[in-house]
Amino acid sequence: MKRHFEDNRSSVPQSPATHRRTGLPGRNLALLLAFQLALLPGLSGCGAEKPIPPPGPAPQPVVLIDKQTGDLFVGEPGTGIPAVHPRTGKPTLIAAMYCAQCQRWYPVPPPEAQRRIPAGRLCPKHQTALEPNGPIPEKSTRLAP
Ligand SMILES: [Zn+2]
Repeated sequence: MKRHFEDNRSSVPQSPATHRRTGLPGRNLALLLAFQLALLPGLSGCGAEKPIPPPGPAPQPVVLIDKQTGDLFVGEPGTGIPAVHPRTGKPTLIAAMYCAQCQRWYPVPPPEAQRRIPAGRLCPKHQTALEPNGPIPEKSTRLAP
């Protein structure tokens, strides 16, 4: 009986071994990830060598409105909001959205606030949903990229 018990015990050290074995795929995965990460800069380097990406649909410029003066500005796609006013240097330019019925741009709250104030995306006159895209206002200042 005792010997049998010891036999059982002797099998116990095997469990850390199997544990270590199960740890191996994880290490392989880490190696694989590291390998892929090492490959990535090479891939992006290849992309950088390409002359110019094929011109798809032109990304829509961002229309901004100065919350102090109401002046309209046009920024490059992906312009951070609030954007800095080129003359005052203050971050007073907020996102604007378009009402097709008014044919004008209205200031809208930032996306975080829009969840709290759903009316922030409605035309103050028509109470219809404002659109993020619209004709670029003629009287607007183009922001330097
Ligand atoms: Zn309107």
